[in-house]
Amino acid sequence: MNPALRQDYLSALGLQSWAVRGEARSAAPATTLEPAMPETAAREAGADWATLRERVAACTRCALCATRTQTVFGVGNPQAEWLVVGEAPGAEEDRQGEPFVGRAGQLLNSMLRAIGLTREQVYIANILKFRPPGNRDPSPTEAAECLPYLEQQIALLKPKIMLAVGRIAAQNLLRTEVTLGRLRLQLHHFGHSRVPLVVTYHPAYLLRTPGDKRKAWEDLKFAREVCARV
Ligand code: SF4
Repeated sequence: MNPALRQDYLSALGLQSWAVRGEARSAAPATTLEPAMPETAAREAGADWATLRERVAACTRCALCATRTQTVFGVGNPQAEWLVVGEAPGAEEDRQGEPFVGRAGQLLNSMLRAIGLTREQVYIANILKFRPPGNRDPSPTEAAECLPYLEQQIALLKPKIMLAVGRIAAQNLLRTEVTLGRLRLQLHHFGHSRVPLVVTYHPAYLLRTPGDKRKAWEDLKFAREVCARV
């Protein structure tokens, strides 16, 4: 990416003063979190995008089907190398039917542009396809019930790298209770598919805590480095 253009994006992130610093640290040894593919995912593997979208829209596996406005299936390039995964739709996402919209979505777009990617080049999804009422955290049961859909999306997409944004997404994807601070700047692999996975902060958190944007920039550079190596 044109250095001047990247500088513009970093300015939008409030990261101008960090743009010229050193490279991300080298990849740490991979963790070995490898949950078995759930039966449901294995049974339903092979669905195409349209079929999968229909299955999600009709899903009643958990109680969220009774309270959502619409499905938030995911958006982006079906040939994307990057898969961005958050935890669940919020109120605005529920209204629009698209993940990461509003101010948090705009910041995510800026974060992606800072590493030379447009929103249209990546695929963006959540673990939960329906919104938990009141923006509460997903329950472990809800996350477990919905995760097979993400696994099917991954099977279709075959991404080179996953970027887990936020503690809830990272902990559910990696099946761990380790803090986000300790999961950052480590190379993980997701589940049965073993897709390389890097963790960073949720843009909604960064809007509340702009002082951590510098760490997010380190995470993004690390993820870019990982993607270039796989
Ligand atoms: S949140 Fe997921 S598991 Fe729950 S009803 Fe919706 S699609 Fe099904």
